[in-house]
Amino acid sequence: IRPLAQADPEVDQAIARELIRQQSTLEMIASENFAPTAVMEAQGSVLTNKYAEGYPGKRYYGGCEHVDVIEQLAIDRLKSLFGAEFANVQPHSGAQANASAMHALINAGDTIMGLNLAHGGHLTHGMRINFSGKLYKVVPYGVREDTHTVDMAEVEALAQEHKPQLIVAGWSAYSRHLDFAEFRRIADSVGAYLMVDMAHFAGLVAAGLHPSPVPHAHIVTSTTHKTLGGPRGGVILTNDADIAKKVNSAVFPGQQGGPLEHVIAAKAVAFKMAAEPEFQERQVRVLEGSKLLAQRLLQDDVAAAGISVVSGGTDVHLVLADLRHSVLNGQQAEDTLHRIGITVNRNAVPFDPRPPMVSSGLRIGTPALAARGFAADDFAEVADIIATALIAAANNSTTADGTQEGDDTLDEATAVELRNRVTAL
Ligand code: PLP
Repeated sequence: IRPLAQADPEVDQAIARELIRQQSTLEMIASENFAPTAVMEAQGSVLTNKYAEGYPGKRYYGGCEHVDVIEQLAIDRLKSLFGAEFANVQPHSGAQANASAMHALINAGDTIMGLNLAHGGHLTHGMRINFSGKLYKVVPYGVREDTHTVDMAEVEALAQEHKPQLIVAGWSAYSRHLDFAEFRRIADSVGAYLMVDMAHFAGLVAAGLHPSPVPHAHIVTSTTHKTLGGPRGGVILTNDADIAKKVNSAVFPGQQGGPLEHVIAAKAVAFKMAAEPEFQERQVRVLEGSKLLAQRLLQDDVAAAGISVVSGGTDVHLVLADLRHSVLNGQQAEDTLHRIGITVNRNAVPFDPRPPMVSSGLRIGTPALAARGFAADDFAEVADIIATALIAAANNSTTADGTQEGDDTLDEATAVELRNRVTAL
C-alpha cells in the first residue's frame, strides 16, 4: 500500500519527467497517441493480478467470473466496431497478433509476400531477422518509383511466380489507401490467404474515414494504441469460423500464456469510446491535420530546399517528408525538430540513397495532437513551424553529402523563435 513515490522514487520521478515531456512537446510520432484517462485507469487496475488462461467461459483457472465479463465486452465491442464475426483480443502486441495470425494460417517454410520494409512495410511482414523472415520464405513487393504507391501489377506478377501461401497487406510508413479488393482477387487467384495488418489506420477505419479491410481479408490484425487510441496491445479479426478457431488456438496456447486482463479491460474501454461521436470528430481532425501538413510541405519555399512529400500528399494520419534531394538528412531533420520541441521519427523513404540509421525521410503523424484537441488552425501553425525549421536547417546545412549524423543545423535565434511558437500552441 505504499505509493510509488515512496516505494520507488527513481521510477516515480522518471515517470513525472516523462509526463512533463509529453505535455511540453508536440508529439508527432505517427504510431503514438494519448490514451484517455479511463483507459489508463482500467489498465492500472487490480486485473493485473489475475491469471485467466483460456477464453471467456473456458478457463484453466478459477475465479474468472469478472474477467470473463470484461473480455467478452472487449470481444463484442471490437466485433461491432469493425463489423466482424469473430475477434480475439488477447495478443499482447501488434507483433504478437501478426505472429499468431501467421501461425494460425500457414506453416514454417511456406512463402509469404509483404510490403518491403524499405518501402514502408513492418518488421513482422518479412524482415530478415524477424520471426517472419526466419520462419517463412519472404517475397517482398514494393512501390512504384514514379507514384510511390504499391505496384499492384508487381504484386500480381510476384504472386503468380512464387505462389505464396499468405499475402500481407498493411504498412508502417505509407500515406495512401491500399486496394484490399484487388489484393483479395490476387490472393484468390493463387490460393493464398490475405492478411491485412491495419495497425496504423484502424482508428480511421473505425471512424468510417478509411476503407475497411474486414470484408476483403481472410484475417485482419491490428494494434490498439496507434490511431485507435487505446492501450498498447494487439487484436485479430475474421469473418470465417474455421479461421477463428485456428486463431484462438494459435494465440493461446500457440503463442501466449495468460492474457493481460488489465490491458483487455483497457481495450474494452477504448473500443466503447471509439464508437462514440467524439472519436469520429477527432479522426476528422487527424486527417485535416495531415492534409494541411502535406500541403504546406509541398509549397515552393520547401521545394527550394530540396524537400518534398512522398507520393505527393496523404490520405491518412501521416505525412512522409522526402529529403532525398535535400542536403538535410533524416537524422538532422529529426534533431532539428526535437530541438524546437517537436517529436517525430526519421524514416527511410522508398529508393532512399542514405543508410537506414540516417535516412532521407521524416514520418510525421497527427493522431496525438488531435487527441490533445488540435484543430485546423493549430495544425496550420504546426505545419508552418515544421516547414520553416526544415528550410532554415537545410539552408544552414554544410553537409554536402548528407551523411553527417546527430547535428541539427538551426541557428540559435531561429531555434528560440520556433520553440516559442511551439510553446504558444
Ligand atoms: N504492425 C504494424 C503495421 C506496425 O506499424 C506495428 C508497430 O509499429 C506493429 C504491427 C507492431 O506492433 P507492436 O509494436 O505493438 O508489436
